[in-house]
Amino acid sequence: MALDITDVRAQMPNYENYKDWQRSGEVLGIAVHHSATADRTTGAPTGNALSFFTYHVNGQGWSHGGYNYVIPGSGQIEYALDEKISAYHAGFRDTDNSEGLEYGQYWNNHYLAICMAGWFSDNRTYQDANGQTRQIPNQYTTPTSAQMESLLNLIQHLRQKYNIPVENVRGHRELRGNGTTCPGYNVDPAQLRATLKTLDETKPPDPDPQPEVKPGEHVVLLPDADRYFDAAATYIWHFQPDVSFAIDQAAGRWKYVTAIGDASGISDAQLERLRTAGALLVQRIPGDPDSVRGALDQLVDADRRFLDVSEPQPQMYTVQSGDTLYSIARQVYGQASLWNIIYEANRDILSNPSQIKPGQVLKIPPKPA
Ligand SMILES: [Zn+2]
Repeated sequence: MALDITDVRAQMPNYENYKDWQRSGEVLGIAVHHSATADRTTGAPTGNALSFFTYHVNGQGWSHGGYNYVIPGSGQIEYALDEKISAYHAGFRDTDNSEGLEYGQYWNNHYLAICMAGWFSDNRTYQDANGQTRQIPNQYTTPTSAQMESLLNLIQHLRQKYNIPVENVRGHRELRGNGTTCPGYNVDPAQLRATLKTLDETKPPDPDPQPEVKPGEHVVLLPDADRYFDAAATYIWHFQPDVSFAIDQAAGRWKYVTAIGDASGISDAQLERLRTAGALLVQRIPGDPDSVRGALDQLVDADRRFLDVSEPQPQMYTVQSGDTLYSIARQVYGQASLWNIIYEANRDILSNPSQIKPGQVLKIPPKPA
């Protein structure tokens, strides 16, 4: 997952006056906020770094805006306030320091602030021009998929940079001294941490896992030995596979097959027959003797018996309100009947196929061939 960040720091109001400020104390954690701004007719997330900072500076009289990062509904991350500057996101009054939290400034001093635009709870209202309380519709009461994916990416990036344990990724309402429902009751910080833990465990994936091969399980097929034997000699010496010149005798005999040369020497159909006969991995090293030698010598240098054999990594999907496993399967695979694949891949967090909740992050395995 690539991290795509737009740097908007210098475009924020009053920037010249605070740009050289420094936080007091090191970064120890990350707090997640929502902006509590929703479109009055649709309920969709509204606002971005500039609109929030303009409100904080010109409306509230703060020196700068309240967040280090803002993630609008589009998911495009905005870097709004330098990480080295404390954001005013979770300070509280404690004049005698009875809470022992740096006179109420602990969270500002030590926690980076990420704000997702939107209002992630039900029963949202606003005051109209006549002071009447009006309902905001509830179509959008969870972060968008794009927001959630960006949030996870950004948090993992910052955790790595500052060595932040997962326990120190918190929702605003979890910060002692702060009386708030932020980032909205539909964002569950415990669930967010569980997802981050899953990401910690699955990353870094082995970029290129190699099968464990026992003696006698691997063959190099060299139908055109006159042309290719020299090119393969170093590889054969290094890995000590069996060597065979008779392709059609190979079916059913070896688990791992490295076929040397182009389809003129070994056809795709012949390789397919080896797979059908039970080979786990059938890999061709194509090209003329020079390119074959280059490819094989690279494998020897890396001490890798095979070219990249990694499986594609699963995608992540954030459950939206109204989603079912059927509807997600239809969306990601184009086939609702494949819902069971998603269910099986997420049994660790789903006890029953009908119990998916908005905000949950599901692993989506690759579509079966
Ligand atoms: Zn907040």
